[in-house]
Amino acid sequence: MKPITVTIEEKLYQNRYRVDVGRPHIRIRNVDICTNSCADKCCTHVCPASCYRREANGSVTLITDGCLECGSCRILCTDHHNVEWKYPRGGHGILFKFG
Ligand code: SF4
Ligand code: SF4
Repeated sequence: MKPITVTIEEKLYQNRYRVDVGRPHIRIRNVDICTNSCADKCCTHVCPASCYRREANGSVTLITDGCLECGSCRILCTDHHNVEWKYPRGGHGILFKFG
């Protein structure tokens, strides 16, 4: 029997996300630190949902829609402590579908 192959993008598409409009659960405390003091900008590389984006002018933007709540961005930003992170309010955020 031929194995079924599924890409990461296809798996992620199975999830659903309920946006808490105007109340993002993750926030960059000081965007100037991202632009001027953070050379690696590792959040833009590690986020599996591509919530962080490195802009052409060196700044970093964050859109939390689709966040998988893995916590990687908070852990990797320990040098600058520039990520304020909490879980979404009940009924909001990622809804995982398995299978
Ligand atoms: S790792 Fe932290 S300080 Fe660096 S760009 Fe990301 S949020 Fe900003
Ligand atoms: S918690 Fe994980 S998925 Fe959510 S923004 Fe941070 S790195 Fe991305």
